[in-house]
Amino acid sequence: MKRREQGLFFLCRRTVITIAAFLIGSMLLFLALCNGESSSGSVNRKVIIFVWDGLRPDSISASSTPNLWNLSKNGVFFKNNHATYPTFTMMNSSSFNTGDFPDKVGFYGNTVYAPGTAGHNAGGKAVDYNQPVFTEDWNILLSLNSFYDNELFMVKRLLQATREKGKITAIVGKSGAAFMFDLDRKGYGLDENAVFPQSLAGELQSAGYALPKNTPVMWPDIRLLSSNGDPTGRPSPAKLADNVTSDPTVGTTSPNSSSNKYMMDIYLQYILPKKNPDISVIWFRDPDTTEHIYGVGAKAYLDALGSMDAMLGHLADHLKSLNQYDNTDIIIVSDHGHNNVSGDLSLFPLRTIANGAAGSTEAAKGYSVSGDVRLAQLLADNGIVTNVYDGNGYSYDPVISGVMADGTQVYPDQTDTDGSVTGTKGKKYTTRGFKVPATLPAGSVVIAANGGSDYLYLTSKDVSLVKKIVTFLQQREEFGAIFVDDKYGHIPGTMAMSMVHLENTAGRNPDIIFSYNFNENAVIRGMKGIEYESMQIYRGMHGSFSPIDVNNTLITFGPDFRTGIASVTPSGNIDVAPTVAYLMGLDMPGTDGRVLYEALNNTSVTVSVVSLNKLIQSDAAAGLTFYQPTAVLNSRAKIDSGKSSYSITLAISSVTDSTGKSVTYFDYARAIRQ
Ligand SMILES: [Zn+2]
Repeated sequence: MKRREQGLFFLCRRTVITIAAFLIGSMLLFLALCNGESSSGSVNRKVIIFVWDGLRPDSISASSTPNLWNLSKNGVFFKNNHATYPTFTMMNSSSFNTGDFPDKVGFYGNTVYAPGTAGHNAGGKAVDYNQPVFTEDWNILLSLNSFYDNELFMVKRLLQATREKGKITAIVGKSGAAFMFDLDRKGYGLDENAVFPQSLAGELQSAGYALPKNTPVMWPDIRLLSSNGDPTGRPSPAKLADNVTSDPTVGTTSPNSSSNKYMMDIYLQYILPKKNPDISVIWFRDPDTTEHIYGVGAKAYLDALGSMDAMLGHLADHLKSLNQYDNTDIIIVSDHGHNNVSGDLSLFPLRTIANGAAGSTEAAKGYSVSGDVRLAQLLADNGIVTNVYDGNGYSYDPVISGVMADGTQVYPDQTDTDGSVTGTKGKKYTTRGFKVPATLPAGSVVIAANGGSDYLYLTSKDVSLVKKIVTFLQQREEFGAIFVDDKYGHIPGTMAMSMVHLENTAGRNPDIIFSYNFNENAVIRGMKGIEYESMQIYRGMHGSFSPIDVNNTLITFGPDFRTGIASVTPSGNIDVAPTVAYLMGLDMPGTDGRVLYEALNNTSVTVSVVSLNKLIQSDAAAGLTFYQPTAVLNSRAKIDSGKSSYSITLAISSVTDSTGKSVTYFDYARAIRQ
């Protein structure tokens, strides 16, 4: 007997003993399944994947998340888990869905450039696909899927594999991220914009529940009752007097709690007891959205953690009351970590917030006044690319785009004297618009501005333009590690996309992907980690190759998992799908990820660490001048003197197991300027 089969035998034997005591009649069927080649899991095992978007492992504590703290102590807490880079929500939803890295999946969310696509969004509005598009939206995902001939994902998905076995699936929660699991809408679903199948929308109305306000966009036959309201609506954030920058001293609660609670209530009170799903994916936008708006460590972030934890408590209570608790494996996972948005604190000291504005500098307890970067404007104004677009209009961002110690703004306030920039005479702005024109001029560059990393698409595929852009990014200290499509050949001081599983076989990857720069040791409001972001006026962001964005939360708890383990063995979001497939006896062969045997009861498979934080060094680009991000124009920016070479350090960790499976995870990638 091979080792893998031994493991399966033990798993089956233990379950048989349990089941035989209660259900003699089921035993023959069960033994038949155990003898089958493809079945490995327990026949009636339930699995719940509960995603807390943007939850950092160091956010979990006895005081802020008592239920999750207890679960982590009684289950397996993977201390060295890895989000997939780029560390965005939809990219990691892809990995949860498939067990694979982007090179195999072929999808590069959150924001992608896919001209030629057509369709509407979840609110029913036509989408302009000449611009890069944000994909957290069921209708946009369906449009993209249709554009890619129903192969938005180039590999099989977890819920497809679940239904192949005749099992029932449910998805609940955040727009796009949860829906992506059930693109085919063949299970049950409830997200912030819609319900499926249509019959479920009708059932919920009959049972007295309100529906998401946009439900009729998916099902035009559904009429909302006059009492329906907007159960997934979210209040606007508290703002400073500038009306654009959030105010974390006033906004002290999560804007998402009531929407999340509405969806969780329907799941617990209706979908779970009445539809009895074998696998459920619950994905809520907290703490992430609250971190984006108010920053990691802000009061509102603590409120978001508390709300999420209360829902976890309700989930456990309902499972117990339905007698499902002992037969349900619960996987708590976040898609990525989260950083505070800020530039170098020595250039941009933190400031107080007073009278609705950023006040005096205050190193210990201040708030960030920097970190936003408008790459399109930098490339245009420094003469690097003439025709550069990011799909966004003008921006007024007087604080987070950078206020220096002397009060000078990196992107100074400007007034639109004739209305040509903002559409309104006399209106203030800090950067002009960079919308993609209907007809792209030759040599255009389109930026999908995502946050902690950006994607660049070149219309000309011109290697000399790639080199010019790369050199500019290397010379500006807002920017971190740079990855270039392998087809351009080696460019000094970069790494090939294939090095980090970004090079898609069908050519769907952008031409350049780069991480914004970060400092994982800088502290704001008691939380480590800062990064620059593409301009969104957020206080929190992710998506970079910082170890804090990469190191996300993974906790498993339930009948198949060991108890009281803090695992330091490297693991990743790519391992969730193959592990669930193993537990449920699904067919998902050949995933990049592995079964997390180290967390399982009753397995003889052993897992060993091959390397931890092994450093891989790129070659260097030499003879460079480095500009600090203190002005848009290089000619006005401070020069970081005494340094001239740029290179990248990539840290990797690898494991192997006794079935022969090996996986390499990416810990971080850092730009070295010296
Ligand atoms: Zn996320």
